[in-house]
Amino acid sequence: MSKKETTCSFCGRPKSQVRLLIAGISGHICDHCIIQAQTIVKEEIPSGGLGIDGGSDDAPLNLMKPTEIKAKLDEYVIGQLSAKKTLSVAVYNHYKRLNQKVGDDDIEIDKSNVVMVGRTGTGKTLLAKTIAKMLNVPFCIADATVLTEAGYVGEDVESILSRILQAADYNVQAAERGIIFIDEIDKIARKSDNPSITRDVSGEGVQQALLKLLEGAEVNVPPQGGRKHPEQKMVKVNTKNILFICGGAFDGIEKLIARRVNRQTIGFANEEEERIDKDNLLEFVNPTDLKSFGLIPELIGRFPVLTYLEPLDKAALRRILTEPKNSLFKQYVKLFEIDGIDLKFDSEVLDFIVEKAIEFQLGARGLRSICEAILTEAMYEIPASKDHAKEYRVTLEYAKKQFSNSKMAKMKAA
Ligand code: ADP
Repeated sequence: MSKKETTCSFCGRPKSQVRLLIAGISGHICDHCIIQAQTIVKEEIPSGGLGIDGGSDDAPLNLMKPTEIKAKLDEYVIGQLSAKKTLSVAVYNHYKRLNQKVGDDDIEIDKSNVVMVGRTGTGKTLLAKTIAKMLNVPFCIADATVLTEAGYVGEDVESILSRILQAADYNVQAAERGIIFIDEIDKIARKSDNPSITRDVSGEGVQQALLKLLEGAEVNVPPQGGRKHPEQKMVKVNTKNILFICGGAFDGIEKLIARRVNRQTIGFANEEEERIDKDNLLEFVNPTDLKSFGLIPELIGRFPVLTYLEPLDKAALRRILTEPKNSLFKQYVKLFEIDGIDLKFDSEVLDFIVEKAIEFQLGARGLRSICEAILTEAMYEIPASKDHAKEYRVTLEYAKKQFSNSKMAKMKAA
């Protein structure tokens, strides 16, 4: 070894005896030492201090406590206390599970996939979306109604994974710890009690196909999705650590719950009947009801967490208009502010908007179209007028007039 030969500053090996020697500011490191250092980092910091699986370049994962998750949800979602608490715990446990060291006690924590039952427009998607955003993990929404069994017209269940890959910018590692929200899971309920007679390709067949994803498997995924690009190279995605949250309205499930609850309470019928709030039987939903509705037991078994969303009453809708961090009210104020106008709503206008949402049976989803119906004219005219006032006040009279002229009101009248 010549005197001048560079050596590794860690192990002292000369350059001629290593495959790689990387120069630092005042020293060198060889490939042997890099590998050893990497092993130490993995052992000492299982989460790599960053993501779940050890020093990846993924965005940092916020491991928040359930109470913190719930408090954050409160900023965006009104009411739904029970769903918020259940989800916060499920999500916390899920990410705890991912951080779990493979220890010698052999206790493996199961995944806590979630099913949310509740009428449409009560905040199921919003809850899932808000959680993913706060945890900074990839998130996608898949619609169960378009899924069919492989080989039939429609989308294969694998297409769901293409979506999460896209949401993760094709970073497979990030996608594998994301959250997938499957909407309208109730629409793939078994349609007939005797599946052997009629082939049920969009019902039980899809449930069976979904099982594979939920069980945690390595799945070959077409990154562009669909079957339109047969030439694309498949990407392997492991679903073991993906959290699945499903939502569905399960229309008519109340009847199944009532039947079960009544059966259980024979003998105490009168007393119990009074105690049970007939309007909110969903509170009592349990896995048996999902089975009676037409979900297969294997699938139900993959969703250990079941929660419900309350129907939104007048008071809740009123709060939704103004309270969430990005409430509709705040959004319109902002839009007008950009034009230098201070937008003001008389409080009766807000009540009027809520009444119309209830009358049209649109729930929270309808609030936006009603606001649009009331404000479109103003949003059209004002930016064009040169010397508009600094303040724009929406009175009840104006709101009623604009609404009655809108397409929405006319469609109802027709
Ligand atoms: P679902 O998934 O239950 O059908 P969404 O979560 O998509 O309903 O709700 C539709 C819209 O209604 C949301 O984008 C949100 O603006 C509003 N919304 C619904 N429920 C709530 C709620 N509980 N709190 C705040 N906003 C809500």
